[in-house]
Amino acid sequence: MAELLGNERRTHYCGELREANIGETVCVMGWVKKARDLGSLVFVDLRDRSGIVQLAFDENTEKEVFARALELKTEYVVSATGVVRERSSKNPDIPTGNIEIFASSVRVLGESETPPFDITDDCKTNEELRLTHRYLDLRRPVLQNNIIFRAKVAKSVRDYLCDQGFIEIETPILIKSTPEGARDYLVPSRVHKGSFYALPQSPQLYKQLSMVAGFDRYFQIARCFRDEDLRADRQPEFTQIDMEMSFVDTDDVLAVGEGLIKHIFKDCMGVDIPTPLPRYTFRECMERFGSDKPDLRFGMEIVNLNDALKGCGFPVFASAIEAGGSVRAINLKGYAEKLSRKDIDKLADYAKGCGAKGLAWVKRGETDGGSFLKHMTEDELQAIYKAADCEKGDVLLILADNDNNRVLTQLGQLRVEAANRLGVERSGYNFLWVVEMPFFEYDYESGEWVAMHHPFTSPMDECLEYLDSDKGKVRAKAYDLVLNGIELSSGSIRITDPALQAKIFDLLGLSKEEAQVKFGYLLEAFRYGAPPHGGMGIGLDRLVMQMVGATSLRDVVAYPKMQNAKELMTDCPASVPAEAIAELGISIVKEDKA
Ligand code: ASP
Repeated sequence: MAELLGNERRTHYCGELREANIGETVCVMGWVKKARDLGSLVFVDLRDRSGIVQLAFDENTEKEVFARALELKTEYVVSATGVVRERSSKNPDIPTGNIEIFASSVRVLGESETPPFDITDDCKTNEELRLTHRYLDLRRPVLQNNIIFRAKVAKSVRDYLCDQGFIEIETPILIKSTPEGARDYLVPSRVHKGSFYALPQSPQLYKQLSMVAGFDRYFQIARCFRDEDLRADRQPEFTQIDMEMSFVDTDDVLAVGEGLIKHIFKDCMGVDIPTPLPRYTFRECMERFGSDKPDLRFGMEIVNLNDALKGCGFPVFASAIEAGGSVRAINLKGYAEKLSRKDIDKLADYAKGCGAKGLAWVKRGETDGGSFLKHMTEDELQAIYKAADCEKGDVLLILADNDNNRVLTQLGQLRVEAANRLGVERSGYNFLWVVEMPFFEYDYESGEWVAMHHPFTSPMDECLEYLDSDKGKVRAKAYDLVLNGIELSSGSIRITDPALQAKIFDLLGLSKEEAQVKFGYLLEAFRYGAPPHGGMGIGLDRLVMQMVGATSLRDVVAYPKMQNAKELMTDCPASVPAEAIAELGISIVKEDKA
């Protein structure tokens, strides 16, 4: 391995050389992507973070240099100097394709063993092997560009928020628990044996206390940690653009949030996002799309067939309506020809997988076909068609249930599945705010009401009267930002009245004593002049993923964890020496594997 020689310095990145550089003597440094030995000619593709340039060696190359070129192997680190010249056979696929460097010297700065997989964008190697050698994986241009783009987004965030008067404040990582609805990662204290720090699920309470402290506008590109059973689109640690501002209401926070989004998209992609972004209430989202994070890039909205079916004789529909539930449908407009009977059966299976009792359907054509037509009168059918705007060429998918929310959620899932199966064209960036979120959510498992956002969220003024009598009716000053069916952000206006905060803790089943132990410092702070405040946290990983069109968070996080929360490159989590554990005053209980 070599160090740089005294006068050996890079003059250009590989990917930035163009015809304008022809005739210049340049020095580039990078990794050998490919070396081709054509007998009297050697071509080497040299790669760095900016792209690729071709080095050329021919019969006019000094013998010694030519011999060294022949020794270059894939992924060797090389320094090459030479004159930029026009290529005889051009490559229109790469930005440097019109030129090459006629190398007058070449030096190996670092040799490489044969890498365990091909370092190319279309590499088919399994992800585990790639993650084990993430430093090689990250050399693949697609990942390298994602990570560089991510840095650009982070800078753009800082630029915008600093311009808007936000102050970047680092909040601690070793903290007392902040609840966001997940399990904490705990860190044992050596000095205070038996006590634990929690890693922040978010900087929530610190940012609120920063408002009490008078900073007025706070932001942080903050790492958050949530120990959840991992689903495909989660990482145990993730990054949030975290913000909080004082003397604001919902409109002010949303204005900053959408201003930020607009700025980032313009700055990093040249894309204009029209603002203000549309706002939908939670209820409207559920009624129209069966989801609190609807994908607005396509229609197929849910329609309620209750009025059309009032008094109908078909027991499946009639009983759902009688029980206070509903019969609802989505119209796959114009897809009758494309959707085979087999496809419909698959959608029916999917609906059952979502908990639906069965899928009723009708396909309109020269003659109408369907699963329930014989149970309907002609008038009822016409009423359904009218309600759902169902014409010749359309397919109607219908679900019925005694529980309205259930039928909506199932239809919402079916809507997305049908769009996926039909390959419905979805392009662009469709943002929306979901506002007036429910304050409480009933947890069927524990039989308790839990906070849908977090317990520091302010209920809407007009709902305060229902706090005791009808929790399901209480809406919150909480809002989510949704992009193309993905929840990007949530936030709220906070409670600042210590009495109301104490009441909410109480309603969430936290005794006075528990509340005091866990959040006494917050309640106390509110006694010393707390300005009205609110904020939000935007998931940076998910935002970048959408912007670059990646399909996995792992493609936009430099060193991600697998779904089982392991990081393969460093093999973590890992065991530690027994002394280190003893020093912490804790002992490990071995799981009985039997
Ligand atoms: N702390 C919240 C979260 O992480 C965001 C917010 O309310 O500002 O979801």
